[in-house]
Amino acid sequence: MRLDVFTLVPAAFEWARERRPLAAVLGGELELRVFNYRDSTPLTAGQVDDDPYGGGPGMVLRVDVVVAALEAVYGGIPEHRVIALSPQGRQLDQELVEELSLEPALSVLSARFEGFDQRILDHLCTDVVSIGPYVLSGGEIPALAVVDAVARRLPGALTEGSGEVESFSAALDGGLEYPHYTRPADFRGWTVPEILLSGDHARIDAWRREHVRVLP
Ligand code: SAH
Repeated sequence: MRLDVFTLVPAAFEWARERRPLAAVLGGELELRVFNYRDSTPLTAGQVDDDPYGGGPGMVLRVDVVVAALEAVYGGIPEHRVIALSPQGRQLDQELVEELSLEPALSVLSARFEGFDQRILDHLCTDVVSIGPYVLSGGEIPALAVVDAVARRLPGALTEGSGEVESFSAALDGGLEYPHYTRPADFRGWTVPEILLSGDHARIDAWRREHVRVLP
């Protein structure tokens, strides 16, 4: 997959490249490119945003700036899915993550300040996605959430099998994963369920199935 992020803070994506899951799939299943709107803006002095029509505080990311960024990279408006990150969008969930991870190419647009000129959402984007019902200061953390969640669904991102049985997965009927424990078996009297120490895999599997929490 080729995943392109448009941002005003490209540095926000650097650390993630060195860590799993990104480190495992970059150069293979995933090509991650990060573009700064300022590098292709048609305005002077790196301007990308402007005062809102009608007045009020804050700055709004301009539609001509986003078109210029898309044209610089794709030569026009891309055919593939273009996702704008906004607290007003459809909430990201595992189902949407699975769907996105099957796309051959994705563009993810983030904004800062007051957000996007509405025409960006109406005319340039196929999806508007939120990472939750709260307002962050910029789309970088939401973009990292999308990039990470999608990357870990790509082949080779995780150690064998570890991505199959997880919270929200089909293997758990969309429920929350059973609890995990590791050594020590007794820490200050906080003990581990006996069954998990028994070596009896049939009983362990049954215990785990019982402890999957089904969401309402
Ligand atoms: N004025 C907007 C909020 C803008 S926050 C409103 O009231 O709806 C600035 C930018 O941060 C947004 O344009 C978006 O790109 C990003 N952002 C903030 N919170 C987000 C969230 N919960 N999910 C996705 N993106 C978010």
